[in-house]
Amino acid sequence: MNSFSYIFLFCLVASIITQWVLVKRHVQHIRANRANVPADFSEKIPLESHHKAADYTQAKVKTGLAELIIGSLILLGWTMGGGLQFLDNHVRALGLAEIYTGALFIMAVFLISSILDIPMSLYRTFKLEQSFGFNKMTVGLFFADMIKNGIVAAIIGTPLLLLVLWIMENSGSYWWIYVWATWLGFSLLMMWAYPAFIAPLFNKFRPLDNEELRTRIENLLTRNGFKSQGIFVMDGSTRSTHGNAYFTGLGANKRIVFFDTLIDELSYDEIEAVLAHELGHFKCNHIKKRITVLGTVFLVGLGILGWLINEPWFYSGLGAGIPSDHMALVLFMIASPAFTFFMQPLFSSISRQHEFEADDFAADQAQTENLITALVNLYRENANTLTPDPLYSAFHDSHPPAPIRIAHLKSKFA
Ligand SMILES: [Zn+2]
Repeated sequence: MNSFSYIFLFCLVASIITQWVLVKRHVQHIRANRANVPADFSEKIPLESHHKAADYTQAKVKTGLAELIIGSLILLGWTMGGGLQFLDNHVRALGLAEIYTGALFIMAVFLISSILDIPMSLYRTFKLEQSFGFNKMTVGLFFADMIKNGIVAAIIGTPLLLLVLWIMENSGSYWWIYVWATWLGFSLLMMWAYPAFIAPLFNKFRPLDNEELRTRIENLLTRNGFKSQGIFVMDGSTRSTHGNAYFTGLGANKRIVFFDTLIDELSYDEIEAVLAHELGHFKCNHIKKRITVLGTVFLVGLGILGWLINEPWFYSGLGAGIPSDHMALVLFMIASPAFTFFMQPLFSSISRQHEFEADDFAADQAQTENLITALVNLYRENANTLTPDPLYSAFHDSHPPAPIRIAHLKSKFA
């Protein structure tokens, strides 16, 4: 234990206490508003749905808090408990070259972390989601997904990992700039390749065959000069009843994907409005802005790691005896959330700002009323609470709470 150990522990404990207080506030706020549907929604949302949303949200955030505490104990086990050093000693005993030792060590950390994660993930899917009627996944599919994910991660991740470790070893003190450029190039490549090559391994995609809906969507896209590879329907219902729609891919490889569940839940007018919102994200350059923000955060992060990697106190403070490139990478990856947690309100607020902008765009393109009813339907079907605690929401919500979002739409365009 050195001073850095105490700073790390202080930040970790502070972030856990903060999250615990936020969850407590959130649950109290939801309970206090459980008896009645908020006035603006009383015609559209039955009391039964309001109760379900309240109960589901409480169960979800409590599960999240339990996961946070278990995750923090695992983190302490890896670091100060000596788990990483123990693993490092065993991988080193194999006597491989430094780069292969590093890659094997990092893959072992990932594998063990994924295995430790299984019980919580099972609980989330087959207890939490199941008890509120959202889960459609079978145990067989759950494990098949996991194995497939592991294989895809190994095939894609291994060469990347070897490349990063090679750069770190061979490119001097500015290695972090080269690693950053590699990461950025790789991320863009993955964004491009994901819809065509990876997503189909997990889901079935079929072209949207409904003539009327397709024509309406194509009109909306042409009107906005948006080129894509097509409109697809995904069998989201094999895993969950939660509905969604999204744009995916990069450049000419862009696609529009609707969950089959969404098509069942919304009218054509509403689907068009939801799509207009998604299109708004593109038109307002939110994807580019997000890549810029993420890229900057990563560059700063890697720059900091470029300094820490040469400081013995960084390793010993986190329970690792032998400094190395691979140890520095893993320590940085697992320890940094404790330090960056308090930046979350900033990122959440940027994301909510983008949602408002996309809503404004959608309201210009489609009927505002359709977007409002689509949102109300989606909030009801997904059992999202209408009455979040404002402070909790400021920290965690990437999307504005329904009442604020709908009031915004009404004030601007109704
Ligand atoms: Zn959005």
